[in-house]
Amino acid sequence: MPSTFLSKTLYDPAHPDSLAVYCSDGRFTRAVEELLSHLGHAALDTLTLPGGPALLSPSTSYADREAVSRAASFLIVGHQIRYVVLIAHEGCGYYRDRYPGESGAELEARQLADLRAARQALELSHPKLEVRTQYLRVAGKQVQFDEH
Ligand SMILES: [Zn+2]
Repeated sequence: MPSTFLSKTLYDPAHPDSLAVYCSDGRFTRAVEELLSHLGHAALDTLTLPGGPALLSPSTSYADREAVSRAASFLIVGHQIRYVVLIAHEGCGYYRDRYPGESGAELEARQLADLRAARQALELSHPKLEVRTQYLRVAGKQVQFDEH
């Protein structure tokens, strides 16, 4: 039997001017939305993929990076995005899978380098964009974001 669902959230026809690029890991989705709201962006476009901002870094293969860069540019230009936040997270399965045997500290260093590289790539392609980078870690029962 088909059913219908109506959201409590009202539709806003205006496009948000912010974009969050982060990992698909659903344990952090609500916390990321909360961070963006805290930063003054009540609504946001999202680009979520395993590894998140890693896919915009030159350390990623050209083919993977190209597709994600095009998707990001489509949103930035088409939706007139002015503000981007790139978020990496502690214990990311994408990095553990890609660099088996590396310690947590080594992976974190890679992630921070990828965040910087992804920010530089976006700033080069879109000079008017404001890009910020955040590293997310679990802090007890909460999620902590540190700007880098
Ligand atoms: Zn992840």
